[in-house]
Amino acid sequence: MTHIAVFGSTNMDLVAYVAKAPQRGETVTGREFRTLPGGKGANQAVAAARAGATVAMIGAVGNDAFGSGLRSALDHSGVDTDLLRTVEGPSGTAHIVVDDDGGNAIVVVPGANASLTALSAGDTAEIAAADALLLQLETPLEGVLAAARAARESGVRTLLTPAPAQPLPPELLAATDLLLPNEHEAAALTGIDDPAAAAAALLSQVPEVVVTLGAAGSLYAARGAAPVTVPARRVTAVDTTGAGDTFVGALAVSLAEGTPMPQALEWASAASALSVQRPGASASMPYRTEIDGAAG
Ligand code: ATP
Repeated sequence: MTHIAVFGSTNMDLVAYVAKAPQRGETVTGREFRTLPGGKGANQAVAAARAGATVAMIGAVGNDAFGSGLRSALDHSGVDTDLLRTVEGPSGTAHIVVDDDGGNAIVVVPGANASLTALSAGDTAEIAAADALLLQLETPLEGVLAAARAARESGVRTLLTPAPAQPLPPELLAATDLLLPNEHEAAALTGIDDPAAAAAALLSQVPEVVVTLGAAGSLYAARGAAPVTVPARRVTAVDTTGAGDTFVGALAVSLAEGTPMPQALEWASAASALSVQRPGASASMPYRTEIDGAAG
């Protein structure tokens, strides 16, 4: 079975649903409140596990009630949490206000994720044994860099989602095989608004780039080859939260199984199209049989 290692964030999303978000100094009454397991690292881990891989999550939660909830949510999704540390203090939280127009405002408090500045010997061994390593930027850069280096030293393919967008150390890009920005992150990284031109510019730093374009699909660029655009499935989206993480998790599994990039992109597109038709982030992620059925 394909084995994927994920190094990254685990957060509890605390979501308040309101008619209109409060202004500074204002108090409004919300309609509903939900706690939903999240964090880009944990979301990608769940996506890859449901897509059919064995997955190890390297991360950290706090020794609070959210921490045990986050761990059991990952366990429940079949993600191996042996390398998910429990550290003193609060778990990472994302405080999200969603208004009736679907707009949101988010405060992320890293909590335990801030402790992920280095690898343990077990983390290094886990990465070395994986078919691919998934990275994002919701944990300290020095830890992300250490994980990327460990993968590079073992010849393990590294997929980096550069979110939240921030300047990237050249050494991190040098240890990245496939960079997966969405169109906003691609523009932020390059200063170029056109996704195809941004992807072309990024090829000077990484060998392969996939820019995700929401309902417009995705764009794949590699050195020395013509760019390929993969349209998104035409579906009625009810909640696109986590679409990008579903896409990355599914793509990683398919590539690690040896599927050529164009077909792997189609499969990831089918997976994320399923996820946007259902509410929630990790809760909406499809299982392999559903993806195979939809990709048919
Ligand atoms: P998020 O931050 O919400 O997880 P993202 O911005 O990282 O998402 P997107 O580019 O929005 O990622 O979406 C990733 C992929 O999901 C797209 O490439 C596309 O295949 C699929 N997708 C997103 N939105 C839709 C939609 N409305 N209909 C069909 N597919 C969609």
